[in-house]
Amino acid sequence: MARYLITGGAGFIGSHLCESFLKQGHEVICVDNYSTGAQENIFSFASNPRFRFLDHNVSRFIDIGGSLNYVLHFASPASPVDYLELPIPTLKVGSLGTHNALGLARAKKAVFLLASTSEVYGDPLVRPQNEEYWGNVNPVGPRGVYDEAKRFAEAITMAYHRYHNLDTRIVRIFNTYGPRMRMRDGRVVPNFITQALKGEPLTVYGQGEQTRSFQYVDDLVTGIHRLLESQEHLPVNIGNPHEMTVLQFAKKILELTGSKSSIEYKPLPQDDPQVRQPDISKAKRVLNWEPKVSLDEGLAKTIEYFRTRLEEQKV
Ligand code: UDP
Repeated sequence: MARYLITGGAGFIGSHLCESFLKQGHEVICVDNYSTGAQENIFSFASNPRFRFLDHNVSRFIDIGGSLNYVLHFASPASPVDYLELPIPTLKVGSLGTHNALGLARAKKAVFLLASTSEVYGDPLVRPQNEEYWGNVNPVGPRGVYDEAKRFAEAITMAYHRYHNLDTRIVRIFNTYGPRMRMRDGRVVPNFITQALKGEPLTVYGQGEQTRSFQYVDDLVTGIHRLLESQEHLPVNIGNPHEMTVLQFAKKILELTGSKSSIEYKPLPQDDPQVRQPDISKAKRVLNWEPKVSLDEGLAKTIEYFRTRLEEQKV
């Protein structure tokens, strides 16, 4: 049995990770300040005696008693709408928060894993994006607060690995969806599904020609477990290479929900990446990992989740 600390453990991905480690019989400490996370995400396992919740902002010093085997840093706003509303907390949690989480891992001689992002590639000039690509980021644009914080987080993680011999991992997470995404977090998956279920128009930004590649959260969790078991210190992309345009995605949501909603075109946000598709050859080679859940299967579960949440709201 190992002891895991997960920052952002009450968030969408963090809560799935907490649950997966508890299922394996481990102890989990979840640190979250509910900035974009939610109590209901941890509700189903909060009473597990191996689970502990700590209400704390990890941009401030993290004080934990006892030993730790793993520190996973997942705390951060992750929706473009959220990090535009919370630009300074986003910069702080990616920089100061990463520094604190690394310091904690070092003090406890724990393995450290950083949740990085495909946003480090910015608006990429190559497609698909492999880990060797250095990216095309606008540091002073509205998305810079997230992109640059995560790029700094990768740099400081490698510095702790190289100069303090800390055992570190970096996962570059591509667009991920599934139950426990916040209904109004502004991202395309919750937006389109809730709009379709409510019979409201689906808001497609620009002409909807920009591409994304969507992975189901269970595949990501498996990839993170494999990365922790590996000895790979350099970044690894974890995502689903199945790429589609945003307009195709809107039509897929209409088909799967059976909704009669129309499509409404809205202005494209500044610096919105025009293409995004992970090259996952490294994850296949080093981790023997590839996604298993098809888009139809994953979306069916996610639509069901949002349908239930909307029903609850009506009551
Ligand atoms: N998008 C859209 N309509 C929405 C929300 C998002 O067309 O209601 C587009 C957005 O412009 C982007 C893509 O969908 O091209 C994915 O956006 P999201 O906010 O999910 O995350 P991103 O991949 O940009 O980080």
